[in-house]
Amino acid sequence: MQNTIHTTGLDALYLASIDSGVKRITAVAGFPITAVAEKFIRDNDNTYDLHWFTSEKSAMETALGASVCGCRSLVLVKHVGMNLLADPLITSVTHTIGAGVVILAGDDPAAFGSQNEQDSRWYGKIAEVMVFDPSGSQSAYSCLTRAFEISEEASAPVIIRITDRLEKSEGCVLRTTPRTGVQGKHFEPSVWKLTMHGKHQRFHLRSQPILIREAEASPLNRVSLKGTVGMISSGVVSAIVDSTLSADNRWADVSHLALDIVSPFPYGLVADFLKRHESILVAEESEPFIESHVRVFGNVSGKETGHLPYGILDKGHIVFALENLDKAHPGEYTSIQTIAERGPRPICSDCPYMPLYHILRRLDVMIAGDMGCSIRTAPEPLGAVDTGFSLGGAISTACGFNKKGIAVIGDFGLAHSGIVGLINAVDHGSDVLVIVLQNDVAAMTGGQPSPDVKEAVRALVPDLETFDLDASVRNMGDAAAEELERVIQEKLAQKGVSVIYVKCKCVMY
Ligand code: SF4
Repeated sequence: MQNTIHTTGLDALYLASIDSGVKRITAVAGFPITAVAEKFIRDNDNTYDLHWFTSEKSAMETALGASVCGCRSLVLVKHVGMNLLADPLITSVTHTIGAGVVILAGDDPAAFGSQNEQDSRWYGKIAEVMVFDPSGSQSAYSCLTRAFEISEEASAPVIIRITDRLEKSEGCVLRTTPRTGVQGKHFEPSVWKLTMHGKHQRFHLRSQPILIREAEASPLNRVSLKGTVGMISSGVVSAIVDSTLSADNRWADVSHLALDIVSPFPYGLVADFLKRHESILVAEESEPFIESHVRVFGNVSGKETGHLPYGILDKGHIVFALENLDKAHPGEYTSIQTIAERGPRPICSDCPYMPLYHILRRLDVMIAGDMGCSIRTAPEPLGAVDTGFSLGGAISTACGFNKKGIAVIGDFGLAHSGIVGLINAVDHGSDVLVIVLQNDVAAMTGGQPSPDVKEAVRALVPDLETFDLDASVRNMGDAAAEELERVIQEKLAQKGVSVIYVKCKCVMY
């Protein structure tokens, strides 16, 4: 039975999961994935089990465990989480899986809520997996339902790149028959008869051809042939291209190849499109992924030629590129965004950690920040931390400083991966003061609960002190900050690893 409903991309992903018989969902919070996970939590119909994870690697590994036992699994992570998840992902492709595993990788073009701008489509190349890049609600539904099937056919996980704009897109969705009460494929242990090299050979000879056939022939990749100029796009940009071309008669003769499947790259389909056109414009976000595959063919414009900006694209960008297609390098996108131009995104003005940040600003030592609210204290006027490389990365970064410095890390970042840095710091006898911001939530990503690993930390680092900043401010007023600074200075003067848990209640959660 089929029925059509008008819905958002987010709801379409939810419905596709339900209709695909998903049993296990593992999620790590972060923009734009938190909204997806919250949808599944809110509308849990008891057909699946969902848990927040502190680490993307663990989220992927648990999904793989469910897969080998026949449960279709969905992994929800933001783009930076793909970097951690890549380890089990890449090995799972040659190891083989059981029931389908689909990763929803939440990209953030323009880095609205992220520490960088990263394009998850490249993981299709690195891991040799299929990557879908849906363009709207129907596409999101169709890609996800097909992703589970192809994951089982090829015995490898599949990635679907999503964005905030895809989640919010609206359109009609044709639902197919829900897959209820059906167990997925189980893991086939005979693969252990193969060497590790043999497993990779098996992938290239058996699984990869299935993926290539799908990418070349899938109706999800759509071609509209018109004149001598052609556009190639993927993701939500395809919908923007469609509306741009249909809105203005000047572009009535522009052909359009909309790719919902970008990995394996459909070389045959794209080569045929290229042959039929004198010039090509590639529109995609965030990086020139498709463009890099076709640039060698000649008259191809896009981000690398300066016709379109890197990162997020809108209709105005596409109109500009089409109007300037005859120029080799239009040179429009040369400015670099500053905080002063964009406007600051500071921490909450009533953040209870403000006294700590003012202390950190005054100290004459290097201070490694972490992902989370503390990263927003790096720019002026606070200027509290010096660096911010990765979630959980502050402790290891501070261990590289030339003298005892400070690592400021949230309790979520510590549980995510920071504790591994702490183990190394202790093992190496490093000089570092670790300040853990203990507010029991992942504040930056929506207030998800943070696991308490304090006793594990105490077992590693006997020199552990807890400073209840909220209580101190209540009892001592301004003197609380002086007392906290005294404790910090005392720990800085000591050799070795010291930990101060600074306890506060986040005013947001
Ligand atoms: S969200 Fe919470 S922890 Fe983060 S800046 Fe605001 S009050 Fe502070």
